[in-house]
Amino acid sequence: MTPIAGVGIIGGGMAGLACATELARRGIASTVFDKGRGPGGRMATRRADVADRQVRFDHGAQYFTARDPAFNSICQEWHRQGVIAPWPAAGAKALVGIPGMNAPLRHMAETLDVRWGMRADSISRIGDCWRVIVGDEAYDFTRLIVAIPAEQAAVLLVEVMPEIARHAAATKSDPCWAVMALFAEPLDIASDVLRDEHAPMRWAARNGSKPGREGLESWVIHGSPEYSHDVLEQAPDEICPLLLANFFDQAGIAPVEPIHSSAHRWRYARVSLPAKRGFGGLAVWDHVNALGAAGDWLAGPRVEDAFLSGMALAELIAHDL
Ligand code: FAD
Repeated sequence: MTPIAGVGIIGGGMAGLACATELARRGIASTVFDKGRGPGGRMATRRADVADRQVRFDHGAQYFTARDPAFNSICQEWHRQGVIAPWPAAGAKALVGIPGMNAPLRHMAETLDVRWGMRADSISRIGDCWRVIVGDEAYDFTRLIVAIPAEQAAVLLVEVMPEIARHAAATKSDPCWAVMALFAEPLDIASDVLRDEHAPMRWAARNGSKPGREGLESWVIHGSPEYSHDVLEQAPDEICPLLLANFFDQAGIAPVEPIHSSAHRWRYARVSLPAKRGFGGLAVWDHVNALGAAGDWLAGPRVEDAFLSGMALAELIAHDL
């Protein structure tokens, strides 16, 4: 058993790290566990080795915007520090991490106690503490936050926060197949972004056109929620040719063989029916039991919503202390 006093946070995506950052700003230390090998969550950047070169693809969130003043102010700070930059191809207010979408997470994690490769298998109440089981290890915290996607939060919280677990289970998220493709030569496509609300391919972006990228002819293609749902259980190597064919169709050019292609299935990509109507807040904090939840599923389907949820939870905890 490894006792760690203070706040434990399960999930080091935008919500969990925003919460940890705001707690730290208020002088409250926390320890974050994330099952991933490094920062990303749904703002992940995938690396591929192709012909002695390393190529990076943003295969989750493509960009984000900052409408809320608090998020806007942190974005301005990140921009000054070279962590993010505008990407006008996606819209006047579109922002992206540099050199990958996960850059803001990596930046926040640098000054926090984040432990990657640590999957919380279960949580339970032991005396005055919350015990988190990670493989063969147990970690005890006085306060605990669950900042993971709804479908996973529903499982982790079912015994300890049954009502919230029910709301999490009722949250709906759309799936998304993402195809990553690298081409030897520039494709004859004028725009760096293609969108189609009605096609199997909802979105395609020339990844290499984002600021701070390698400048290669790399594309990320996202299937629409409906299409991704229909072909959800197909194998990745079956999805690549299907979405690539639709991509060339939408772009109006003859198909070109990529020098690399792979596909990633996001089973729960974007929240389509958040739980926020059930709570009236952006996060949940049970101050009697010192247990809370944050994440986009409590606030809305965007990076900014996840950030605001994490911030809101930090404020609730700080208020409690
Ligand atoms: P996550 O990013 O999912 O973070 C949760 C973290 O918890 C993960 O790092 C995961 O590894 C970890 N975790 C899960 N279970 C455990 C466990 N048991 N133990 C330890 N760690 C665990 N948003 C936009 O604003 N604009 C977009 O264009 C956009 N496009 C998107 C496209 C796709 C394909 C996807 C997938 C998402 C997109 N989003 C977009 C949504 C956005 O990425 C999310 O809303 C946001 O990143 C959610 O942050 P989060 O912290 O709530 O969750």
